[in-house]
Amino acid sequence: MEIVIFYIIVAGLAILISMFFLYQLKKKERIKIDEQQQKTEIKPEECLEPEEEELVFLYSKEMLRNSANIKISDDGLKKAVKFVFYKNESSENCEEEIIFAPHLKNDEEKKAAATELINTISAALARVNSEKTQCPYYFWNWAPSCKDHSHMHGTIIKWDCAASPELLSQKSFRGNYHPGTIYGCYCFAQTLPEGIKSFKPPYNYYDGKKIVTLSKKELNKLCNIQKRK
Ligand SMILES: [Zn+2]
Repeated sequence: MEIVIFYIIVAGLAILISMFFLYQLKKKERIKIDEQQQKTEIKPEECLEPEEEELVFLYSKEMLRNSANIKISDDGLKKAVKFVFYKNESSENCEEEIIFAPHLKNDEEKKAAATELINTISAALARVNSEKTQCPYYFWNWAPSCKDHSHMHGTIIKWDCAASPELLSQKSFRGNYHPGTIYGCYCFAQTLPEGIKSFKPPYNYYDGKKIVTLSKKELNKLCNIQKRK
């Protein structure tokens, strides 16, 4: 009888201990989810000033100038900038604003072109963010879903000196452009202060003609990142 009571007590304790650990685990998960949600929300200090929003519009317009797939009115583009800025990034939101080029026949092609618009606005937003850091360069971040630009991954490029990824890989010229601003490209630009957290030296740098390498010291000379920290 005593043994039975002993086992009941042991079993009860075991249940209590496992419930305690389960509770701690759930608590950790909840904190993690909360942190993730906080990250995706726009914080007030990240809001763009009206003149910065205007700059995003102007840079987007400039980057879309040679787009073979989409034409959009200034008002339509301003609306689209707001879609991206307020993180409501569904390309369907912008489709009614776009005049698609006639060669885009089916919905899938049109959807890809609308995504091109969203990615272009994101690139313009990255340019404005770069300018806030007083460092007019970016890291080309290759997205594995982009078929053509794996060779561009980690390359540092100046915003007013777009590269031609095709010429750099001995393919047919499609223009000089920034990541995300051409059909089928899901790559994105990252500011230098952000990029140096993930890319290690020696860095690839596009000097206006070819890709050369930069040491950390040379990169700091280029942009004076350390002083601003
Ligand atoms: Zn790409």
